[in-house]
Amino acid sequence: MIFSSPPTAPGRARARLLPVALALPLLVSGCSGTHRAAPTGSPTPGAPTSSPPTSTAPVTPSTRPASVRPSATAAACRTTYAAPDPDRPVVALSFVVADSKASVRGTERVTFRPDLPVDRLVFRLWANEPAARRGGGHTEVTALSVDGTASAFAVSGDRTTVTVRLGGTRPARSRIVVDLAFALTLPGGVNERLGHSGRVAWFGSGFPLLAWERGRGWATEPPTSAFAEAATSESFQLDLSVDTAPGDTVLGTGVPISTTGRIRHRTADAVRDVVVAVGPFHVARGRAGATPVAVGVAPGLSDSAERLLPMHVDAIAAHAARYGPFPYASLDVAVLPDIEGGIEFPGGILLGHNQDKDATLVHEVAHQWFYGLVGDDQGRDPWLDEAFATYAEALVRGTGGTYASLSVPASGRRRVGAPMAYWEPRTSVYYRSVYVQGAAALLRARRTVGATAWDRAIRCYVATNAHRIATPADLARALAGLPAAVAVLRGVGALPPR
Ligand SMILES: [Zn+2]
Repeated sequence: MIFSSPPTAPGRARARLLPVALALPLLVSGCSGTHRAAPTGSPTPGAPTSSPPTSTAPVTPSTRPASVRPSATAAACRTTYAAPDPDRPVVALSFVVADSKASVRGTERVTFRPDLPVDRLVFRLWANEPAARRGGGHTEVTALSVDGTASAFAVSGDRTTVTVRLGGTRPARSRIVVDLAFALTLPGGVNERLGHSGRVAWFGSGFPLLAWERGRGWATEPPTSAFAEAATSESFQLDLSVDTAPGDTVLGTGVPISTTGRIRHRTADAVRDVVVAVGPFHVARGRAGATPVAVGVAPGLSDSAERLLPMHVDAIAAHAARYGPFPYASLDVAVLPDIEGGIEFPGGILLGHNQDKDATLVHEVAHQWFYGLVGDDQGRDPWLDEAFATYAEALVRGTGGTYASLSVPASGRRRVGAPMAYWEPRTSVYYRSVYVQGAAALLRARRTVGATAWDRAIRCYVATNAHRIATPADLARALAGLPAAVAVLRGVGALPPR
């Protein structure tokens, strides 16, 4: 995610902006996240607005130390991406978009085989995040059943967490089928992942998102008020249908499979979130190698899909040369009003107006590897995707020197690795402290040990942690043969001290 806005744009606090004189085109505030593993049975944050069903089931441990994550302990350097978990969730998701474009109804079936015992299920409703709600957006789960039986559920006080007690403990690997129905009201006029304007609607993370992290448990951190991500989940298989007006184009996560009347059917093999944009976009289509790329521009915007398409193709090629093949079967980009900057999703990007003139485009494409393919706990370790996306973008655009020259506010110095709980009251320094300081440190580490050895190690990190949620320990493990690089990252607080 990137927040990029001209200094003259009205109506928004500008505390995040970089000095114009730097001519650094991206003016960013962070993607943050929510997410911390909580033991099964621990309280849902915030006061429930409805009572969960009474359960006296014993609390069972559902966390284990990150250090025993099996995905990362194989230190051998892979040359191909690790395969997705064969037991990953299967999500069948259906959206029906109102012709007004102001609301969406949805159903979702999640087939889940947790790798740890569970006595509850947790879904996140990111459409209830603070920014979306300020714009009049909100969502509610209207029905929920577990294995075919209607179930009561509790919603947290901040309305982003839905918890279902199972009435007992299910052992690891048990098959749990959850059906949900939900209603989504899209906000208007906000710089966020959900919105509608005229004949166009967009909704990223606009459905109840299973908040599981393998090996750790449920992700229940509160949302952030920043322009930032708050979603964390494991990759899942996706079957997506979108019912929208016949003249609409559908852009977003997944590969288009078929169109039946108003219903567009898409699928994806392993994605950790979903974005959809619908409307009468002007679309340019091409390929980056074998990967289909579509860029759609919303009506009324002066952006050129034909100009943006090859820029995305070039960005994909540049990142793929360093980190490995593009991780999804397709990439769709929707250029939209209201968004200032860009927001990344697996196989999909929401882009603001005029973002071909700054770092946003290359940054968002880099997130397909750093956040999409290699996930992270964005509440605990926001730097793992934001510093890396900024680093990757700087390598492509040659802006590393500029990043290295920027000052870091005192409250952010040597705190690259701080969690979003630390940045939440300090959002004005988040970009400089995490994006800039983190990217500059990664670039310095690369110079310190040499590009060849560093690039090999980072490629190994990406391949080993593909389709997983990586941790700083996973990165340190990948850099174990490059202690001077580890020292650089420790020096800025990106990696913990020994
Ligand atoms: Zn970003």
